[in-house]
Amino acid sequence: MMHTSLDLPALTLLAQRSAAISQSCTCTPKSLAGWEGMPVSLKETQLREIATLVFADEEESTLDEYHPQDTYYWSVNAPIAPLYFPYNRCGIWECTRCGRCFLRYSEAGAYHLESRIRSLDPALIVDAPHADNGRVHRSSVAD
Ligand SMILES: [Zn+2]
Repeated sequence: MMHTSLDLPALTLLAQRSAAISQSCTCTPKSLAGWEGMPVSLKETQLREIATLVFADEEESTLDEYHPQDTYYWSVNAPIAPLYFPYNRCGIWECTRCGRCFLRYSEAGAYHLESRIRSLDPALIVDAPHADNGRVHRSSVAD
């Protein structure tokens, strides 16, 4: 499968453009600073996918998370590190009314996929290298 993922400068530009939007919109009443389930108030048709951070097939992409400052998955200040989970599974979605951008992916639960969404905050984007370039570390199978 071919993946044309957004590079870091392009991602940062989109995030900066999004952060500069000040008009109120139906996509903003709930804070999406950290990961949330897709709010019922936000209609699926109000969002369109404009880019992706996916650079490899899901089974090839690492499940490592990047939290150098003691953040965790749900933290509102958790870094957005494109080579790391869950950003390596995310699409960039734009609100068709105001142009704000969001990260979205589907988290596999026990019985269903849960759609998760997070604001794309330029201040949280980090260019964090990964030992295996964001891929699953194959040789660990032999450990
Ligand atoms: Zn909006």
